[in-house]
Amino acid sequence: MQADVSEILNELNQAQRQAVSSPSGPVLVLAGAGSGKTRVLVHRIAWLIQVEGVSPYSILAVTFTNKAAAEMRGRIEQLLDMPATGLWVGTFHGLAHRLLRQHWQEARLPQNFQIIDTQDQLGVIKRVHKALDLEDSRWPPKQSMYFVNGKKDEGIRPQNMQDTGDPITRQMIRIYTAYQSACERGGLVDFGELLLRSLETLRDNETLLKHYRDRFSNILVDEFQDTNTLQYSWLRLLAGNTSPIFAVGDDDQSIYGWRGAKVEHLQRFDKDFKNTQMVRLEQNYRSTSTILNAANAVIANNAERMGKNLWTDGNDGEQIQLYTAYNEQEEARYVAERIRQYAESGGMRSDVAVLYRSNAQSRVFEEVFIGMRIPYKVYGGLRFFERAEIKDALAYMRLGSNQHDDASFERVVNRPTRGIGARTVDQIRAEAREHELSMFAAAQRLLEHKILTARAAGAVRNFIELVNDIAAASADLPIHELVDHINVVSGLLDFHGKENNEKSQSRIDNLNELVSAARGFEYNEEEHGEMSLLDAFLAHAALESGEGQGESWEDCVQMMSMHAAKGLEFPLVFITGMEDGLFPHQMSIEEPGRLEEERRLCYVGITRARENLVLTLTERRRLHGSDRYNMPSQFIGEIPKELLHEIRPSVPSYKKQSSSSYTSSSGKNLVDDESSEYKLGDRVFHQKFGEGTVTNYEGSGSHARIEINFKHAGSKWLVVAYAKLERA
Ligand code: ATP
Ligand code: MG
Repeated sequence: MQADVSEILNELNQAQRQAVSSPSGPVLVLAGAGSGKTRVLVHRIAWLIQVEGVSPYSILAVTFTNKAAAEMRGRIEQLLDMPATGLWVGTFHGLAHRLLRQHWQEARLPQNFQIIDTQDQLGVIKRVHKALDLEDSRWPPKQSMYFVNGKKDEGIRPQNMQDTGDPITRQMIRIYTAYQSACERGGLVDFGELLLRSLETLRDNETLLKHYRDRFSNILVDEFQDTNTLQYSWLRLLAGNTSPIFAVGDDDQSIYGWRGAKVEHLQRFDKDFKNTQMVRLEQNYRSTSTILNAANAVIANNAERMGKNLWTDGNDGEQIQLYTAYNEQEEARYVAERIRQYAESGGMRSDVAVLYRSNAQSRVFEEVFIGMRIPYKVYGGLRFFERAEIKDALAYMRLGSNQHDDASFERVVNRPTRGIGARTVDQIRAEAREHELSMFAAAQRLLEHKILTARAAGAVRNFIELVNDIAAASADLPIHELVDHINVVSGLLDFHGKENNEKSQSRIDNLNELVSAARGFEYNEEEHGEMSLLDAFLAHAALESGEGQGESWEDCVQMMSMHAAKGLEFPLVFITGMEDGLFPHQMSIEEPGRLEEERRLCYVGITRARENLVLTLTERRRLHGSDRYNMPSQFIGEIPKELLHEIRPSVPSYKKQSSSSYTSSSGKNLVDDESSEYKLGDRVFHQKFGEGTVTNYEGSGSHARIEINFKHAGSKWLVVAYAKLERA
């Protein structure tokens, strides 16, 4: 016993030990990046089990991703040298889902309820708009979706909303109400609903609540700074007055304010929970002092901070490298080349992260990586389970499990095309509305009453038989055979096979990959409880879609947004697209509060790096189809100069590129004069307009004109010969 305890405490510093071994009661560990918060949380769980004699069955731990949950469980079992049976560890969504599966009756859900992701949700909202006769141009469906999700995140149901007489709010309440009944009819549960429904189920069910309060005598939460109102209420409800919460977090890493997360939960923790023990960790074990100093310098520009110190006794390490590329293609080639060198000199590609502000940036990197045969894995973005053909196959599976799932019905009723036209679908929809039936039941009713034309009736009958066939097959076949069966009988494989091009081939590959995914799916009795294997797999597809799939055995470069990188660490990190407008994001530049959140995101990005950090930016970027000339990110300017090492392309950009390839979107040459004095990104000073940055350039000699983005006067085109510019 004694030796085991030393294993739990040995790898910790004094402050960490204090947190891990603190007496029962609420604990808040507030500390900067890489100071060992997650490590403390893991060791705390091991401590509770081994030293305090708490059963794993009484412990609930919340992590930020499913991957983190799996790693946490593995690490705990390694420390304890035994399986932690009964321990609940997962994301808020995963845990709420588990509760709902086990208590579907109390939650008033059908046993085979299905989780819908954001795409499906938008589909349901669109149908609701149609049913309410709303024009998309006036009432954008996405707006309604944000509204519904926002309300759910605050724990508000349509019937709790006040009709203030404001027509927009009134319309939104109507939409929310209709959306909710559509979900109820179809047995569909969106991400926000998982949490809200499980909260309500516990709240309204005394015995159930008592059971879980008694059971979970210890609740632990990682990344506490990013909990939203609903998640916080969920935690408080479960904790009651008896189960202490052990939370770790960093206000400087709160990056989900835009999605309703409230850093206030961190700030008022010690008020909400009496006798909270606060622990601060100040030593960073992750990064070189160069990287840490850069991160500290950047975040120091934020006004709203709880204030923390962070130091390291690690070595200085190398300078942070800053590379300015001509455009995004060249940026990607530079990064790829660096990774190739890294791998050639013995580095693991999986030790390298390529981070970006928005998922759209990944495409160019992917193309270049494919061209250079660099294996990579993208987290986030369009993931395996979100691809159209996969969602089609899943929709058939869902219909097999629950014929009344309207979202799936609409998705595949005529996919691949089988002669059920828009008019027939409209008829089914109207019938469903009128008799308050699911679309499947409505279609059957139309057939019974012989309302459809002969051709339409034949097509609809075939579809209904198809769904019945799949339902029967789901009862008999193992799921991978079921997927295989569906791929064939639905006509999906045939349909893509006929197209016969590269894209359709990759669709076929994906459909076959789904068979492998189903074969490899592990049913975990403890986690999945009474769920059927099929439902467990479908829930897995909906919940896991956020985190990248497949070839984890291969040594791949890790690509993800900075948001998705939270909590992770890598020896070599590239932060790409360091340009104003991109990062910080345009939308946040105008709003001070949002700018501080972007800066925290930058802090998160920088502190992912252990040994080497490379920042890249471009002079010209084509994004979403248009060219932009951005200034370097203001965050670069916030890093002390001595920590940066600038790598310039060997020849200035405007000379190296041939004028024909370097043209603006309007087709004019940007720079065709070797003697041009200015290049993109140069800082200049104008008598009247003050300081600015060169963002565009055209013409030559006495006709040369440049566009300057002035700090205070905005963007202006000036003729170089007359502008009397000075270098700033
Ligand atoms: P973030 O804020 O990014 O989530 P964190 O505070 O959770 O970071 P960890 O990920 O727990 O930090 O730890 C950062 C790194 O430092 C990890 O590699 C961890 O193993 C290591 N580490 C933490 N504490 C110690 C320690 N006392 N001795 C040696 N290494 C440590
Ligand atoms: Mg952490």
